[in-house]
Amino acid sequence: MQIAVFSTKPYDRRFLDAASAGSGHRLIYFEAKLSVETCDLAAGADAVCAFVNDDVNAEVLASLSAKGIKLIVLRSAGFNNVDLAAAKALGIAVARVPAYSPHAVAEHTLALILALNRKTHRAYNRVREGNFALEGLLGFDLAGKTVGVVGTGKIGEVVCKILAGFGCKVIAYDLQPNPACLDMGITYVETNELFAASDIITLHCPLTPATHHLINEAALTRMKPGVMLINTSRGAVIDTHAVVKGLKEGVIGNLGLDVYEEEADLFFEDLSGRFIDDDVFARLLTFPNVLITGHQAFFTKEALTNIAETTIGNVTIFERTGRAMHEVSVEKIAR
Ligand code: NAD
Repeated sequence: MQIAVFSTKPYDRRFLDAASAGSGHRLIYFEAKLSVETCDLAAGADAVCAFVNDDVNAEVLASLSAKGIKLIVLRSAGFNNVDLAAAKALGIAVARVPAYSPHAVAEHTLALILALNRKTHRAYNRVREGNFALEGLLGFDLAGKTVGVVGTGKIGEVVCKILAGFGCKVIAYDLQPNPACLDMGITYVETNELFAASDIITLHCPLTPATHHLINEAALTRMKPGVMLINTSRGAVIDTHAVVKGLKEGVIGNLGLDVYEEEADLFFEDLSGRFIDDDVFARLLTFPNVLITGHQAFFTKEALTNIAETTIGNVTIFERTGRAMHEVSVEKIAR
């Protein structure tokens, strides 16, 4: 099949080229994000391959359908950027990579927690400047602290395992408790109890209407003053304005983000020669107790290999059977 691959960087091409060798598929790479403005680039393709900040809305899908495209393969686990109802109505199948490496994201989550707690990002700069003073670098022992995990699916489960290894008391909130987490002795509680009891809160749920702005002003009023908040899920699970207010008032003691609600205009690009015209993001960067990475939690060799191989596998299975392997559909989500 001919696949129009959007939002590609050189590293995507390296891994996809390796995974597609001998598959018979023809991949055409575009740096551009998929949007109403760019979807004409897919003319002549049988399938479209999209990433997290590609906007696969109803208008884009209608245009792709008119070009004869029958399959969207997502190089991600999350699918909040696709209008699944519109895809179904148009007869376009949507496939994703359900589990490429939960370890990659879980380990990055711990990297954020550890760096923020022990202020490694500040220590790194200080030492390079010949400043070996410790004032301002005081952390706390993770052992014995209560960590609230929101979403205990594949990534959340690994996070729980790692935290248990640190000697943390782990509590969790999920619509469907995970038996592996229950076996670890993790207690499931409602969100308000999780907010009130946790020294650290880490988010691993998908972005859905129910989780949109789950962390808002009301939620912050229930949290322990000085709580550490970590988000490696999707940006809009957090109301960023509320969180900036929480940081200014000291309600949030540390904030670690790998995702941001308006990241589509920023992340994955080298903007170092320009100024940031997103004032909320720029404000976040002024806090010493905020550590932001640009959606890199997934970015390991193992994860990129899995993403590429599963993506090509999704196309091959669709070509052979007319059905997507790791299909996401409105029906499956409703279940
Ligand atoms: P998963 O589907 O295995 O787990 C998600 C869990 O969230 C499930 O247990 C589900 O029951 C739970 N959930 C759903 N709705 C909920 C709600 N309203 N409240 C609480 N829990 C809810 O997914 P996963 O592989 O663990 O990934 C989790 C999320 O992490 C993805 O949806 C994606 O948005 C994000 N992600 C981020 C990166 C990154 O690079 N930063 C990479 C991969 C995934």
